[in-house]
Amino acid sequence: MFEDFFININIVIAMIFAFMKLRWNIHEKSSEIWKTHLIDGLCGGLLGWVLIHFSIRVGVNTLVDFRYIPVLLMFLFVGKIPTTISVIFIALIRFIYGVSVSAYAAMLMMFILLIGYTIIDKLVSKDDSLIVRGMYMVIFSNIATSTLLHYVVRDVDILLTLTPTYWVMSLIAGLSSILLVNYMRTSEYLYHKYENEATIDFLTGLKNVRNFDSIWQYSEELANKKQKPLSLLMLDIDHFKRINDTYGHGAGDFVLMEISRIMEDVVGKKGSVFRKGGEEFAIILPLFKREQAREMGEMIRGRVERHQFTIDRETKINVTISCGFVSFPEVVKQTNNMVELADVALYNAKETGRNKVLSL
Ligand code: GH3
Ligand code: MG
Ligand code: MG
Repeated sequence: MFEDFFININIVIAMIFAFMKLRWNIHEKSSEIWKTHLIDGLCGGLLGWVLIHFSIRVGVNTLVDFRYIPVLLMFLFVGKIPTTISVIFIALIRFIYGVSVSAYAAMLMMFILLIGYTIIDKLVSKDDSLIVRGMYMVIFSNIATSTLLHYVVRDVDILLTLTPTYWVMSLIAGLSSILLVNYMRTSEYLYHKYENEATIDFLTGLKNVRNFDSIWQYSEELANKKQKPLSLLMLDIDHFKRINDTYGHGAGDFVLMEISRIMEDVVGKKGSVFRKGGEEFAIILPLFKREQAREMGEMIRGRVERHQFTIDRETKINVTISCGFVSFPEVVKQTNNMVELADVALYNAKETGRNKVLSL
């Protein structure tokens, strides 16, 4: 019996791992709430089914297993609707293995568990950790299962070895499942957070330089392949060092954020805005011809020039920005050195007086 339980614990762990991965893959593609509930509920139900399949026979018609675990996990981590779907699924699927008193008892048990978990959830303090709440629910499941076994297993000798073994194994399986799901959920969350942070500039929320490299490469390939226009703007705040020196680094940061917001507002969905580093920005404008690119640059330059940057209650300042740009295929016949050439155009804008938009 011990070996059987041990195998069951391993199945639970392996299946949780597989289902969580599958669930995330599906959820990334679908966002409708009822679909999400249904998929979660079915995942829990399927895990329950697998566990029923690997049940441990302890009497002529009596099987024990850990089918309560997916229900508990659904309840703790996902929500009440998916949990109910899992419960109904598991309760009904049991009848595939024969319509017997045990099957009806098992069905009743599923609903008792659901009600029990709901009551425990109401009773325990909201300050209790997920693990503590889970622990209460595992203990409740064990009490419910032991009570049921007491009625269906008539052999006292079997009961005397079965009950303590079940308790120990169930505690191990239940708690390690909760810990595993919690761990996987945290890792997945952190993975997405870091993935996002690796491509987004922390201060301005704009795409960062790493993102620029990959999106620029993609834009270049597309423009070359389809021979479509592509423009690139490089922008740099004028005398930004003075702002830092006069009003402090915090004020400088504020100006960077405000200018980023203006650029995003002007560009919208027509292109992508990047913080290339420091007080330098780049804007990729696919399908933009030279004149359209100039208009976009002028619009940003004008908006920044007119904007009043409120540093504090008494201080409002004006800031200007310089912009250099190149357009393919009107100005440059090749895309491969557009970044350097846009920088040259920006340098020219700086050298000839700043606060202007110049093409190469
Ligand atoms: P120019 O008109 O020629 O571009 O002059 P500038 O002063 O804007 O250019 P310079 O390259 O001399 O100075 C850029 C300054 O930007 C220096 C640096 O301290 C500041 N800077 C870079 N990153 C940040 C940041 O994240 N926050 C703040 N507040 N300042 C930054
Ligand atoms: Mg500057
Ligand atoms: Mg600079």
